[in-house]
Amino acid sequence: MALIVQKYGGTSVGSPERISKVAEKVAKSYREGNQIVVVVSAMSGETNRLLNLAAEVSDRPSLREMDVLLSTGEQVTIALLCMALHQAGMKAISYTGGQVHILTDNVHSKARIKNIDGKKIRSDLEAGSIVVVAGFQGMDESGNITTLGRGGSDTTAVALAAALKASECQIYTDVDGVYTTDPRMVSDARRLKTITYEEMLELASLGAKVLQIRSVEFASKFKVPLRVLSSFEEGEGTLITSEDKNMEQALISGIAFNKDEAKLTLVGVPDQPGVAHRILGPIGRANIEVDMIIQNVGVDNTTDFTFTVHRNDYVQAMEVLENVRQELGAASIAGDEKIVKLSLVGVGMRSHAGIASTMFETLANEGINIRMISTSEIKISVVIDEKYLELGVRALHSTFELDQISA
Ligand code: ASP
Ligand code: MG
Repeated sequence: MALIVQKYGGTSVGSPERISKVAEKVAKSYREGNQIVVVVSAMSGETNRLLNLAAEVSDRPSLREMDVLLSTGEQVTIALLCMALHQAGMKAISYTGGQVHILTDNVHSKARIKNIDGKKIRSDLEAGSIVVVAGFQGMDESGNITTLGRGGSDTTAVALAAALKASECQIYTDVDGVYTTDPRMVSDARRLKTITYEEMLELASLGAKVLQIRSVEFASKFKVPLRVLSSFEEGEGTLITSEDKNMEQALISGIAFNKDEAKLTLVGVPDQPGVAHRILGPIGRANIEVDMIIQNVGVDNTTDFTFTVHRNDYVQAMEVLENVRQELGAASIAGDEKIVKLSLVGVGMRSHAGIASTMFETLANEGINIRMISTSEIKISVVIDEKYLELGVRALHSTFELDQISA
């Protein structure tokens, strides 16, 4: 008998009808001979509704009380789902995070899970019950309710799967898996059958926002097989798992892009020790996160220094940089908000040379100028002009034959 953790997101439980549909799906998995733990999100829109209520009574609501408030969203769903399961003739019992001892630190609004005691859940499962747990929440050592950050129900599900040594953690959502790139941009994007944790982390952080990133990190650490699948359609979805040396690995598994970046350059900086620090120090102190960084080879004792930040931080970053320019006596600053980052991701590139040059050749053939390049073991990212984003993604998708991947 397999133990499966299933997580249903906000849209999947967005109405009473949908909750009844989820109950049917859960009942079906149970009847197939599995033990089932279900984790649910708040009904769609509910967490935002609660956030707005708080804003109406307070300018700066206490984070502790915020957690008490937000955790109620999931509490509604667990009760309704259990009722729907009873209606379908199943034995089911609901618990809040605290009730099943999901112990977290005390950082309200973004707590981290420290420990889970699976005893109670196990004994309910043994007794033939389906166990329904509220996602997104836990309890600190003093018994205060905590929440895990937006999208945190994914992390609850993975953490429970790890603690219970489940054979799989299934994340049911409104997409039917992880795609080679955004299907809204490339119509022949394909659903991937499998992908490694590492690849998923790269794709997620680059904008393929299917899962809370922390849940993937958690799954990777505890080797929990994680499957993303649709709650509305049948299908196997995408399995996220460890790299399998025997598995025939596609060279590239996906193309991610990020439209939220902006680029800044300090021109004619004195080429001396400590300069990079004197540029990025003030940026960091202004709480601006830096993504890519490039420093050119110095000529005549000066150099150019370029980096990218989130577009929302662009104006502020330019201001900070102007101060730095004056301090360092650099020649000028320049900036560009109309750029995007495009990345090829694939564990297969580890063992294959020439991926980068094929990528650059493809972009060159389309007349796309590359403004910045950075690489890691399983990723090559380029910064290009925003207007070439679609062209670039489509060209690369076809060069690397991502439309041929069989799902
Ligand atoms: N309800 C929470 C949110 O909207 C947690 C979750 O859905 O995963 O972020
Ligand atoms: Mg979610």
